[in-house]
Amino acid sequence: MTDTTNPDAARSPSGDPYLLTPGPLTTSLSVKQAMLHDYGSRDATFIDTNARILERLVDIVNGRDTHVSVPLQGSGTFVVEAMIGNFVPVDGKLLILINGAYGQRIAKICDYYKREYLVQETPEDVPVNIVELDATLDNDTSITHVVVVHCETTSGILNPLREVAEVVARHRRSLLIDSMSAFGALPLDAREIEFDAVVASSNKCLEGAPGMGFCIARESALEKTEGNSPSLVLDLYDQWRAMQKNRQWRFTPPTHVLLAFDQALTEYEAEGGVVGRGGRYRANCDLLVSGMREMGFKTLLPDALQAPIIITFHMPTNPEFDFDAFYDGLKNQGYVIYPGKLTVADSFRMGCIGRLDQQHMQAALEAVKRMLKQFGIDRITSPD
Ligand SMILES: *Cc1c(COP(=O)(O)O)cnc(C)c1O
Repeated sequence: MTDTTNPDAARSPSGDPYLLTPGPLTTSLSVKQAMLHDYGSRDATFIDTNARILERLVDIVNGRDTHVSVPLQGSGTFVVEAMIGNFVPVDGKLLILINGAYGQRIAKICDYYKREYLVQETPEDVPVNIVELDATLDNDTSITHVVVVHCETTSGILNPLREVAEVVARHRRSLLIDSMSAFGALPLDAREIEFDAVVASSNKCLEGAPGMGFCIARESALEKTEGNSPSLVLDLYDQWRAMQKNRQWRFTPPTHVLLAFDQALTEYEAEGGVVGRGGRYRANCDLLVSGMREMGFKTLLPDALQAPIIITFHMPTNPEFDFDAFYDGLKNQGYVIYPGKLTVADSFRMGCIGRLDQQHMQAALEAVKRMLKQFGIDRITSPD
């Protein structure tokens, strides 16, 4: 229990506040309970569990005939960095499509790794530009790879992945995807969308415990990455080959995180995979957006660009509205929200992913209403 000051606060089955954030996220009690075991890294049961997880991840993208999955310790950024370091060779050139902080971070990774790159940027509330992408690939034949962020968590915007993939494939370049905040909730089918690598993590939409990421790579592309990685611990090729040989991680595996992940994937499949999971998040998102709009809050994005992951709201203009007090008051009622990260507008964010359903969203809206009452605000006013 992280907060015992308010006995009426909403609490998850483990006694914790609900996380309406981009991660770490609220997980089910059964996912947490799966971690109550110690396994050695060479234990046969553990090794089977690991293999089962990797197969199920490939199945999520229907990639059995073409793709393999490689796991890696660390937060999501570790595996994003691993993807860049492994797939973009020293003499390659990466085109980075940027409309938020996670795209910016990829450029920073390239700076560290001294990989050549080109940036194509749109504002945080505008999807990546397909026409411009087409022209850039026409004009610059030295570009070998393109990377795109599936859902830019900075704003919650959905980027047009299918269109990006079509253009990149037509120009015969290699597509890399950061699908960290979308994987498992938004469709990504390797039979329909051509990509060489996609990365995501155990926590976000798959609702496991945080602590590991994974890369689902086209086998024929991964085979060619030997020796590319400037980092030993982030060498996906080496991790893949080692695991092919003895089914083990090269270095201490996050055993508890893997046990939780296996359970999380069982719950994911029981919910109906991407259709069920994505459907629940969509219902959460719709309820949250309409409830907040009723109070006068305004979303940054039009509905057509909004991914059902995290919603950015403009900071209200009411003088009585104090964001720090709003944040603390919601936390005290059992709901953790997230500050904004935008450069285009003053904002805050509320997530609708993790083990949350419409009842939780409805209750969170009631908590917001109580805060407005406390501030003495009848109706929220937002910038035009
Ligand atoms: C969460 C996230 C990441 C990884 O962030 P970590 O804090 O390292 O887990 C990367 N890309 C996107 C789009 C994300 O939402």
